[in-house]
Amino acid sequence: MNIYFKGPSETNTFAITFDDGPHCNNTPRLLKLLSDFNTKATFFMTGNNASKNKALVRDVSQQGHLIGNHSLNHLKKISLSPQELMHEIKTAKDILEDIISKPVTLYRPPYGFISPFLFSVCQKLDLRIILWSLQTHDYCRENYQIIIKRTMKKIKAGSIILFHEGHFNDVSLDYSNTIETVRFILDKSLSMKIRPATVNQVLEFKD
Ligand SMILES: [Zn+2]
Repeated sequence: MNIYFKGPSETNTFAITFDDGPHCNNTPRLLKLLSDFNTKATFFMTGNNASKNKALVRDVSQQGHLIGNHSLNHLKKISLSPQELMHEIKTAKDILEDIISKPVTLYRPPYGFISPFLFSVCQKLDLRIILWSLQTHDYCRENYQIIIKRTMKKIKAGSIILFHEGHFNDVSLDYSNTIETVRFILDKSLSMKIRPATVNQVLEFKD
């Protein structure tokens, strides 16, 4: 089954992932932070947000980060027909590949929603399904100290950590708490035995 929650426990890496972008304010702030730590992350973008922020999508890719598919519209409803699901995923894949001129091989289902239809769509489109092993709940609008505590308690070799760059359809929400949490983790990781890497590196995929 082409579905992954975490990397092997013998790895010395973990993955920081950001869903729901790109976001006009938060993506540039995250890119600066990742660059300050010389670190690569993985961004699961919706086709809809990507087509509104093409230059940002290109920046993310050109700076060596990995881009994955997060559906076209963040799935408008959970119970999509197989045709609607195919449309949501294939259109997003086409939009992202057109912008970055590279194959997009990862899909993260919005809400972690999986179904037999999803497996068959992803198989047809040659997409690996990437979930997560560490949910930071950064969308809950808590103080970043709480998010840091929750994350640091669970982080380990092979972790795939779920953050959000913003809300998928409300650009006004502030995600500074996410950015502060990522800053803390990157700073801590300098003295940890595990280092941040892309999802493909953590899962040991070649592409
Ligand atoms: Zn999402």
